[in-house]
Amino acid sequence: MAVLEIVTNPAPVLRTKARKVTDFGQELQDLIDNMVETMRAAPGVGLAAPQIDMPWQVIVVEFGDEQDEEIPQKLYSVVNPELVRFSQETEIGVEGCLSIPGFVGDVERPVSVTIKGQNRRGKPIRIKAQGWLARIFQHEIDHLEGILFIDKAEKVWPVEEEPAQVMPAD
Ligand code: ZN
Repeated sequence: MAVLEIVTNPAPVLRTKARKVTDFGQELQDLIDNMVETMRAAPGVGLAAPQIDMPWQVIVVEFGDEQDEEIPQKLYSVVNPELVRFSQETEIGVEGCLSIPGFVGDVERPVSVTIKGQNRRGKPIRIKAQGWLARIFQHEIDHLEGILFIDKAEKVWPVEEEPAQVMPAD
């Protein structure tokens, strides 16, 4: 496994629509392992393949809420993820991105979502998420469409000191 370099805005790959994965062979396994290692080294709570210059529909997410036993730390890797349902209810949260170092912004997103995709072996999976976890999944799936949080943010500002409620970068 290897920690890879994270590309930053305005790299063109971040604005490219990622391609669907059809081959679940060794290359994909290595890609996912490297993405997990890169995310953990950053450290971040999520990473999309375009962020390491690989325009494929692959995301990894690792998040747990220390304050909430119902949300233990869990690692997800999702291939060809799709947002299939989202709540009408939305909330504003502060997001950052490993590809946009030094900036955070207020982004309004649905509070809960359902994601459909495949696991690393190609088996269909479905994930229901809410709160921060739902936000992270939406942020990562946006990366696969070439969308960055600064496109959706109502306000973006440079990080001077970490406010308490900032989502860890991804
Ligand atoms: Zn990001």
